Amino acid sequence: MPSCVNGLDCDMTTPEKPPIGAPCNGCGVCCRATVCSCGSLLLRLVSTPGERAPGPCPALLPDGDGWGCGLMLRPTDYLKSTRGPTVLRKAVAVLIASGTGCDDAGDEPDETAMPNLRMMQARYLADHSSEEVNKAWRTLIS
Ligand code: SF4
Ligand code: SF4
Repeated sequence: MPSCVNGLDCDMTTPEKPPIGAPCNGCGVCCRATVCSCGSLLLRLVSTPGERAPGPCPALLPDGDGWGCGLMLRPTDYLKSTRGPTVLRKAVAVLIASGTGCDDAGDEPDETAMPNLRMMQARYLADHSSEEVNKAWRTLIS
């Protein structure tokens, strides 16, 4: 894991990564390791939807005692769009599954991580229809 991200001082103490499914505490472990598929495409780090660029994510920003997603915190700094920050933030929140909990498996072995990840995916799909997800993509890329 890099000791510094995006040219910023990263010596600050950040929270330990919580278990899968626990509320996200902004530890930044996931976004430092690999850019999410949403960020990879919107930040033009990849050209194919679903591909993920290696981390650290260029949109990862210090936020309080931890890290936050720049696409959520300062959407108009990162996204070329005529839409306002509230609309953009709402669409990003859907695509990065904000509020769903920690979905980073880290070094956890598949046999313990996968059931929890499948449970989280089911919860996400119950909360977000495919229409909502498609609408979020259209908002961000149109
Ligand atoms: S999703 Fe998990 S690993 Fe990623 S910042 Fe949140 S708590 Fe840390
Ligand atoms: S776009 Fe946001 S959620 Fe995705 S990797 Fe970057 S900082 Fe993390």
